[in-house]
Amino acid sequence: MVSRVIPVDPFDLVIFGGTGDLARRKILPGLFRRFRSGQMPEGARIIAAARSEMDRAGYQQMIADAIQEFGAEEKNDKDAIAKFLDVLDYTPIDAKGKDGWAALASMVRKDVIQAFYFSVAPSLFGDLAQRLHDYKISNDQSRIVVEKPFGRDLETAKALNKSLADHFDEKQIYRIDHYLGKETVQNLMAVRFGNVLFEPLWNNHYVDHIQITVAETVGVGGRGAYYDRSGAMRDMVQNHLMQLLCLIAMEPPSQFGADEVRDEKLKVIRALKPVDPHHIVRGQYDAGPDGPSYREDAENPRSFTESFIAMKCHIDNWRWAGVPFYLRTGKRMKARTSEIAVVFKDLGHSIFEGDEKRHRNILAIRLQPNEGIDLQVTIKEPGPGGMRLVDVPLDMTFADALGHAEHEVPDAYERLIMDVIRGSQTLFMRGDEVEAAWAWTDPLIQGWEERNDVPKHYDAGSSGPEDALMLLHREGRKWRDIKG
Ligand code: NAP
Repeated sequence: MVSRVIPVDPFDLVIFGGTGDLARRKILPGLFRRFRSGQMPEGARIIAAARSEMDRAGYQQMIADAIQEFGAEEKNDKDAIAKFLDVLDYTPIDAKGKDGWAALASMVRKDVIQAFYFSVAPSLFGDLAQRLHDYKISNDQSRIVVEKPFGRDLETAKALNKSLADHFDEKQIYRIDHYLGKETVQNLMAVRFGNVLFEPLWNNHYVDHIQITVAETVGVGGRGAYYDRSGAMRDMVQNHLMQLLCLIAMEPPSQFGADEVRDEKLKVIRALKPVDPHHIVRGQYDAGPDGPSYREDAENPRSFTESFIAMKCHIDNWRWAGVPFYLRTGKRMKARTSEIAVVFKDLGHSIFEGDEKRHRNILAIRLQPNEGIDLQVTIKEPGPGGMRLVDVPLDMTFADALGHAEHEVPDAYERLIMDVIRGSQTLFMRGDEVEAAWAWTDPLIQGWEERNDVPKHYDAGSSGPEDALMLLHREGRKWRDIKG
């Protein structure tokens, strides 16, 4: 596939935490793909910074190895790799001390776009912002990119926002939620606002309910102790699932601009009703053939943290009054899948004799795997025997429809980083959005902590606890199957 190249101006991208897991696994391999597809201008430079003592050649080798480990077929393009490595530089720095800052100041150019990616623990965000300012490295055009988790509650999120706002304007701050960089998430907006078909039906007159599922097959082993302080609500719902909810539920923005889109998302978050505790099911996976139980993974035999959560939410506005939004996410589930399903209402009346089945149109937007869209429609079953109706999928995988392989679709990180360079904030979270999301989340977490709610058990490799199935069953609804 030939990429459509949108030119960007020369830039210096400084990656704090350039030796870390995220930088080696996602950021640098992603930047390499953009470089290879011609999206980096002449004169672009990437400067990695971390405490490790290393010279430029050492860092280039580290990234050459990372591309081999984490890259796809582009890792065989030795010529492109050599040219990309030439763009990289490294400088040792201590985010909390004085070491390395003068050297960084002398490296970063003043006359090009400057972006500073904080790929470090959030506890260092304030230190980095302060030193970029004190050492006069950044200016009022510089951009900073920060990673999740953005706080663990409203109070910490406000403190983080303040530590950045002390030195940077909101227009300079890019809070990453990599779900927003996924091709299909953007397609959600294209489908809604680029077609005449769906928008008239996108309301409580026609939509019965909406399901958002993000299921993972992996457990928390390896980062169990870290995860145990967070849980599925903080790790997934407060950010990724709420972002998906916002995009599916928001009013049409007047244009696809950063503030127009984010204003509409914010209204959705603010219209979310508090959730009835009976409409929340939390779970922990048991040991299975593929691994230990959640509590063993978390190294906490008395843990009450959830590795699974399902809940029924309501948005208190005219469009969605009475329409349940069911959210579900968990670890060690039966398949890895992320999907949003808009389940339309039954036909009020069937003209076909003997047709007693409740036929429903369902628009399912698959984020992974096989990014695509599937519209369930009802047709006549072929053959004799009268008008027997059957539900079939109108299934479109983007890769097939657009004639390219899945690996050619830009990864979320590479797309988002290039948006930072272009100065487009549409796919990044604004400070007030993050705070509003925590303001909705906090009382729910406090509620189950105060009640000492014990998470339900579920089998590893299942669809979650029985109670989560009941959440829909008792209302005559059904979760969609979790399929990989
Ligand atoms: P990591 O592997 O622990 O890397 C942390 C980086 O920070 C290392 O490069 C480390 O290098 C550097 N560092 C630590 N202390 C420093 C200091 N005082 N001064 C300068 N550099 C320092 O963490 P990570 O997994 O890459 O995560 C980075 C950020 O991304 C975190 O906020 C994390 O929550 C977020 N995130 C990560 C992922 C992921 O998949 N990994 C996904 C989503 C979000 P030195 O030890 O050499 O200093």
